[in-house]
Amino acid sequence: MGIYFHIPFCKKACHYCDFHFSTVLKNRDEMVESLIRELAYRANEWKGQSVKTIYFGGGTPSLLQEKHWNDLANAIHQFLHLSERVEFTVEVNPDDVSEDALSVLKSIGVNRLSVGVQSMDDEVLKWMNRAHSAEQAVSAIRLAQENGWDNINVDFIYGHRQYTSGNTHEDLKQLLTLQPQHVSAYALTVEQKTALDFQVKKKQYTPPAQEAVVEDFFTVHDVLIQAGMDHYELSNYALSGKASQHNSRYWSGDPYLGIGPSAHSFDGIQTRSWNLSNNQSYIRHFLHKEMEGITTAEVLSNRDRANEYWMTGLRTAQGVHLQKFSSDFDQPITIRQWQALRKWEATDHLHIGEHSITCTLKGWMVLDAILVDLFFEE
Ligand code: SF4
Repeated sequence: MGIYFHIPFCKKACHYCDFHFSTVLKNRDEMVESLIRELAYRANEWKGQSVKTIYFGGGTPSLLQEKHWNDLANAIHQFLHLSERVEFTVEVNPDDVSEDALSVLKSIGVNRLSVGVQSMDDEVLKWMNRAHSAEQAVSAIRLAQENGWDNINVDFIYGHRQYTSGNTHEDLKQLLTLQPQHVSAYALTVEQKTALDFQVKKKQYTPPAQEAVVEDFFTVHDVLIQAGMDHYELSNYALSGKASQHNSRYWSGDPYLGIGPSAHSFDGIQTRSWNLSNNQSYIRHFLHKEMEGITTAEVLSNRDRANEYWMTGLRTAQGVHLQKFSSDFDQPITIRQWQALRKWEATDHLHIGEHSITCTLKGWMVLDAILVDLFFEE
C-alpha cells in the first residue's frame, strides 16, 4: 500500500491553484497532532499491509518544522509496517530549502524530493504568484544535490505563453540544467474560483487557444525525450528507474491511504473515501472530538471501476490491458466500444496491440473525447 499525507498550508496562494490549503500557518502544531491521530485511528483498517510508498503533498509540506517531522516519522513507524525499500517523497518549495531542512528530511528516511519550480522565468513566477524566484530554485536543487539527493522531481507548468513572456522551449531547457531525475509537466488550466479564473472573467487573462497548448505539449515532450527521459504518463517523465512509484499506484488502481483534510483513500478493491477539505473541522474532529462525519465513502460498481481503468490506464505509456476488463471488472468490451477503438486507431490516436491499448501522443491530446466514446454505459 501507499500512504499520502496532505499538509494543508501555503505561504501564499498561487493564482492557478485550487488544491486545499490555508495561508494561516498558526495551526501547524494542532494539524500535525490531528494527522497523527487520524493515522493511529485508520492504521487498523490497513493492518497486515506493508507500506511501499510514503508521499507528503499539499499544500506545502516544507512549511513543517523539525519537531513536526520527527513526530510524524515516529507515528509512521509506530502505526505502520514499512517494507524494506520504501519510496519516501516530500514536496518542497524552493524558498523553504536549507541545509538544515534537508538534513531533517534525510534523518527521517525521505529519499525523494519533489520541488515546485514551475518555471525558470521570474516574470512568469511573479505572474503565477509563486513565493520564490528562479534563482532560489537553482540554489535549492544544487544544495540538495550537493547533499547527496539523487532522486529529484521538478514540477513545470506550460501552456500560458501567449500571455506571458519567454518560450516554453527555453524555460524547460533552463530547468534541465538542474539535472532532475523526473519532471512533472502540466498544462496550465483555469480552475474555478482561483485568482486566474477571476482574471479570465475580468478579461485580464485570455487562455491560449487549444492548438497553442498542444504545440507546447509537443515541445515539452521533445525536449524531455531528447534529455533521455521516458514519457511514462501523460504529465510525467523520468530517467530510467526513476518513475514515481507512489503516483503510479493511483494509475494502476493499487491501494492507498490518504491522511489529512481533503485526502483521498482507495482500498484497491472498490471503496473510495475522502476527508472534508476544511482545516478547522478536521482539527475539531481529531483533536477535540467536537465534530463527526468528516469522511465520505463511496462503493464503486464494476462499471465505475472499469471506467476508471480506461481513465487512468490510458494516461500511462503502458495503457490498458484488454483482458482486465473481463477478468477484474466483469465488463467485456462491447461491440460499440470496439467500433470506437477502431475509429480512434484509424486516425492514429490509439494503438491497439494484441493484449493492450495505448494512447499515441496525438491521442493524449484528446483523451477526454476518446474516453467519452469508451466509457461503459449504464
Ligand atoms: S504552493 Fe502549491 S499548493 Fe500552495 S498555492 Fe501554490 S501550487 Fe497551490
